[in-house]
Amino acid sequence: MFLIISPYQNSRLAYVAILISKFLNCEVKIQKHLPSNQVPFLCYADTNYCNAKIFIASNGLLLEKHIRPIEMLWDTDLQCLLAFKNKSTFGFDVFSAMFFHVTRYEEYLIQARDDLGRFKVLNAVLFKNNLVKTPLVDLHLLMLQEAIFQCFPQFSTGVKQYQYLPSMDIDIAFDYLGRDLKRNIGAALNDIYKLKLANLWKRILVNFGLAKDPAFIFNKVLSTPILYFIHTGKYGAFDKSCGFNHPEYLNFIKNIPRNSIAIHPSFQSYLAISIIKSEIEKLEKLSGKQITKSRQHFIKLILPESYQMLIQLGITDDYSMGWPNMSGYRAGTAMSYPFFDLTTNELTNLTIHPFMWMDTHYIFNNDLTLEDGLREFEEFKQHCKRIGVPFIPIFHNNHFKIARYTVFLDLLNSTL
Ligand SMILES: [Zn+2]
Repeated sequence: MFLIISPYQNSRLAYVAILISKFLNCEVKIQKHLPSNQVPFLCYADTNYCNAKIFIASNGLLLEKHIRPIEMLWDTDLQCLLAFKNKSTFGFDVFSAMFFHVTRYEEYLIQARDDLGRFKVLNAVLFKNNLVKTPLVDLHLLMLQEAIFQCFPQFSTGVKQYQYLPSMDIDIAFDYLGRDLKRNIGAALNDIYKLKLANLWKRILVNFGLAKDPAFIFNKVLSTPILYFIHTGKYGAFDKSCGFNHPEYLNFIKNIPRNSIAIHPSFQSYLAISIIKSEIEKLEKLSGKQITKSRQHFIKLILPESYQMLIQLGITDDYSMGWPNMSGYRAGTAMSYPFFDLTTNELTNLTIHPFMWMDTHYIFNNDLTLEDGLREFEEFKQHCKRIGVPFIPIFHNNHFKIARYTVFLDLLNSTL
């Protein structure tokens, strides 16, 4: 057990205690006074009133109940906001810093959005300070853990288990099959109009059963346990799911184990709870399983509304916490953690599972090459191994057909 000795008792400090408890994998309690028995502890207060070897002075953020503007000036020596700098063991209020990054406090403050309505990575304080690829919160927690080990040599943490948990978004199950006649003819006419004759020929071969559909690769990954996020939304500009009348796809969906199937709420379902609900119900009907996991299509996630809606619909685990267009740590951590809603100032029952690596980061981003993709995959994986948490990269079934991206299929199937 580890103790935080503090005069404060509130939901924000309790939340930070949960983060520390998850990281150390041991019980963390908050108490006002030191007990008589010898328990490793630190002091979180205005003054070090219990003569702790580890003292973290509070800069106030955890004592507040509301969201307020914070000046985003950065201290490059301490790697924290200037607002958290103070005179205590680490030189800053590391609890407030962790709370700020993990709750995504800045996403409640900055209203600017990209052209698809998402928070822009360019506005993130970690991006502006060249720390998107740095697991800053995990480094804070490692620093805290090291200090605890030094001050309390008898202290031991619980064992945490690294796990390779590849995931796949199925936006489009088939390139050519599984569409009604109208959509098929429309697509063929489009091929002719754009002179995509090779594509038209492939479409004909696949539709007449003379070639396999290139996007339907699920038989190549059967031996790999994958967490599947299935798009069941209606057709639209950013929603192209198909195949729900195709026996092969239906059979595949029915055979996904309960723990490995999740919803991929459509672009159109954004902030429309009745649409998300109908998409979940459709997947539950198709699979015969209760759906409790989710990841937003196009990572169209807005805090706190997206999470509030998912919670209302019985979702317990979300996998959208990452950047849509860039690899890296959106919340500064690779560790799964509960969602804290800053508008209600309360902990929720939703668990957030961050992702750092997605195949499209390297397919659609001109600044990153395929080699960057392989290198960063290894780097993120090594970090997850170091801190003993699952590594959850994102793949898409419809990109492997392109010869140069088959390396991602090897990555997906690798046993790491
Ligand atoms: Zn998607």
